[in-house]
Amino acid sequence: MHQMTLAEIARGLADKKFSSEELTKVLLARITQLDPQLNSFISLTQELALEQAKAADARRANGESGALLGAPIAHKDLFCTLGIRTSCGSKMLDNFKAPYDATVVAKLAAAGAVTLGKTNMDEFAMGSANESSWYGAVKNPWNLEHVPGGSSGGSAAAVAARLLPAATATDTGGSIRQPAAFTNLTGLKPTYGRVSRWGMIAYASSLDQGGPLARTAEDCAILLQGMAGFDQNDSTSIDEPVPDYSASLGDSLQGLRIGVPKEYFSAGLDPRIAELIQNSIKELQKLGAVIKEISLPNMQHAIPAYYVIAPAEASSNLSRFDGVRFGHRCENPENLIDLYKRSRGEGFGTEVQRRIMVGAYALSAGYYDAYYLKAQKIRRLVKNDFMAAFNEVDIILGPTTPNPAWKLGAKNSDPVAAYLEDVYTITANLAGLPGLSMPAGFVDGLPVGVQLLAPYFQEGRLLNVAHQYQLHTDWHTRTPLGF
Ligand code: GLN
Repeated sequence: MHQMTLAEIARGLADKKFSSEELTKVLLARITQLDPQLNSFISLTQELALEQAKAADARRANGESGALLGAPIAHKDLFCTLGIRTSCGSKMLDNFKAPYDATVVAKLAAAGAVTLGKTNMDEFAMGSANESSWYGAVKNPWNLEHVPGGSSGGSAAAVAARLLPAATATDTGGSIRQPAAFTNLTGLKPTYGRVSRWGMIAYASSLDQGGPLARTAEDCAILLQGMAGFDQNDSTSIDEPVPDYSASLGDSLQGLRIGVPKEYFSAGLDPRIAELIQNSIKELQKLGAVIKEISLPNMQHAIPAYYVIAPAEASSNLSRFDGVRFGHRCENPENLIDLYKRSRGEGFGTEVQRRIMVGAYALSAGYYDAYYLKAQKIRRLVKNDFMAAFNEVDIILGPTTPNPAWKLGAKNSDPVAAYLEDVYTITANLAGLPGLSMPAGFVDGLPVGVQLLAPYFQEGRLLNVAHQYQLHTDWHTRTPLGF
């Protein structure tokens, strides 16, 4: 049962082959049995899951239908869940029970999805390896000595290990696409503003975006359908109709213009990954796509710009965690300053403290123009590069990451080495564009992802291309040994 995709589960439930309650029990037992190896969950919500599963079965018995009705999922632990711990992977919020549901959580619950639990993540979504979580590192089911990617590493490891078919995640600089690549999943970061950020604990508000992680493009379409849409509680949410993402999966790729940026194939890219990307290009050519070389000349400036803008926004967003209103409070503070200092010093881990300091520095008088303002200008240039490219092509294709998943601990002493791994993903966040990563093969037994980028609001196009690719390849069907 645990091998089924969301689409197969939807068919099985519709055909009354099993109930949501039966499936939920199987998956909860599987999580209890196997997750100790992976550490992909921070909280399990057994009671809620069984309650939601029974309610979904009752709705179906009453004639209701829907692809998510009775479908088991999990939420990255930065989506607020009413009455349930929402930790953001941090000691700071270990005792925080959200007083409301995030819009994404509420929408998926209304569609009948069953929440099995809250998944592990890098602390406050800062990281690319899921090693900065206060709840411990997550392991990659493809090789337990390697990282699953981050920051949505818990969602990715759990789905890749077939503990559940799909999960929510968020992407500020690659945190959906990069763990998808590292664990052989399909993950989609939607256009900025497509999915509500209300109740999603903020890391960098102008870059954060929620989206689906699943095994197939077809399943990402189903989950995104339940997540996307305008929300008046999020002032950056965009009031555009949500298309039927499943309806366009079957569209032909005949004549599709795919742009391949020449900057993507520079020295930093593992040549074995470059070869797999070339293979995926050939596969898409067979399906009718036309390839064109393009250029994104400002790509080289994207990492420094991102690592100024994201920490700047984080330093501002995280100022709310002061020991007074939310989360961890130190023992016996001497005065207010002592309360702030010790609560924050004890509650935040090293990487979060580093980012707060970098961000506060970049925003301070005297440095604002030199760093923050300059980074914003680069951001515009990065966006302009994409706009020019999309005048010539429909989709941009390249690697999701320059290297496969590294060994646990390998980059712990050198944060900049980890930042450099984000080179292919962060540009989409800077520009607000949608991006998808899908399985494209293996290097030393570790999965490799190919990334597709599209113009604003063309999530349907990304899912269509990925689905067609998946109809003609079987990388996405491979299962890690032992799971
Ligand atoms: N690795 C990037 C960072 O640490 C992206 C993280 C994310 O997308 N949440 O900022």
